[in-house]
Amino acid sequence: MKNTFRKNKDNDTKKIIVIAEHLQDKIRTITWELMNFAFRLSEITGNRIVTVLPWEMDGQTESSCNSMVQDIMGNAPVDMDIICLSISGASHPDSLAIKESIATLLEEVKPSFVIAGHTSQGLDIAPGLAAKIGGIALTGVTRLIIEDEQPAFVQPLFKGRVNGVTALEKGAESPVVITIQPGVFSREKDKQSKSRCTVITKKMDMESLSKKKKTVKYAELLHISGKKSRLDGAKVIIAAGRGIGSPDNIEDVKELAECFPESAVAGSRPLIDMGWMTYEQQVGITGAVVEPELYMAVGISGSSQHIAGMKDAGFIVSVNKDPNAAIFNVSDICIVEDGLEFVRCLRSLFA
Ligand SMILES: Cc1cc2nc3c(=O)[nH]c(=O)nc-3n(C[C@H](O)[C@H](O)[C@H](O)COP(=O)(O)OP(=O)(O)OC[C@H]3O[C@@H](n4cnc5c(N)ncnc54)[C@H](O)[C@@H]3O)c2cc1C
Repeated sequence: MKNTFRKNKDNDTKKIIVIAEHLQDKIRTITWELMNFAFRLSEITGNRIVTVLPWEMDGQTESSCNSMVQDIMGNAPVDMDIICLSISGASHPDSLAIKESIATLLEEVKPSFVIAGHTSQGLDIAPGLAAKIGGIALTGVTRLIIEDEQPAFVQPLFKGRVNGVTALEKGAESPVVITIQPGVFSREKDKQSKSRCTVITKKMDMESLSKKKKTVKYAELLHISGKKSRLDGAKVIIAAGRGIGSPDNIEDVKELAECFPESAVAGSRPLIDMGWMTYEQQVGITGAVVEPELYMAVGISGSSQHIAGMKDAGFIVSVNKDPNAAIFNVSDICIVEDGLEFVRCLRSLFA
């Protein structure tokens, strides 16, 4: 990407805020992707990156914060500030407490951009934060481009069938809160960082604030079972999406899968959310990443979150009644057909 902006002092005083994500004292991979995106954005705008690490919730110790800060410093793609935002009176990851405390912090910092993950944590924070700071929210951004010397952001729309581009007008003052699709701005793996980081500590007390504003209570973090998924190592995966129509039809998908050796049945997230399949069967950014020899997607639209989990399959066959379904963009064979009809018909050929 060409740097069309001349860096100057004024640009450097404007900030790109990165909201770091962590879980159980470990920085999550999405944070490196956010920093990579922020780095590219800073190359265009000349703005300085400030990574905010919300911590000390639910009894996190200072040493766990220090080790996360060290991790961030070691991965910083450019000189930047790190703000350790120590939040007392809330449990991690309490999105309300994080949102309120970051909003308070931003009254001081006045950023041009705030970057969060298009993840459960990031989506809980970003739109509300944008409203609070008088900014705009752009969610699920997958590309950063330059239009008229200004940064512009690409978002897949209508279940990935088209891409929308939002370009900023010259001199636009409102902060832009952006969530970044996981997996698309991955960090270059062997890049060694020699960046200089300044670490600043800020304290926020959410106890008093929570009394007035708290409408949602963070209950607990549930761990999914460490059970090995049948999807691991399966050579053929038949995956069903909402287009399969009813939980009763999963049986037909299972019967088709059984026609192949070393096979497994998978699903898109809505099927897991509706309880039609178990979490171990979910494919996508918040499920399993699979690489079978054959992946057959039946009634799956092809959201970027699903594609992230199956795009590296050896051969992809998709069945969808919509000829413009986004899943067809990554498929070797595209079949425009009723999903259940196709499954039953193919199954009957094995009989
Ligand atoms: C933070 C986050 C994380 C997410 N993580 C994941 C994830 O890990 N995995 C995941 O899958 N999703 C994930 N999602 C959800 C994702 O955005 C989509 O909502 C989901 O993938 C859509 O599932 P689907 O394609 O089954 O359903 P839909 O999008 O509703 O698509 C159904 C498809 O079926 C087709 N269809 C309808 N009837 C028929 C028929 N009779 N025959 C054939 N085709 C038919 C339709 O044309 C359509 O294309 C995530 C979302 C967010 C915000």
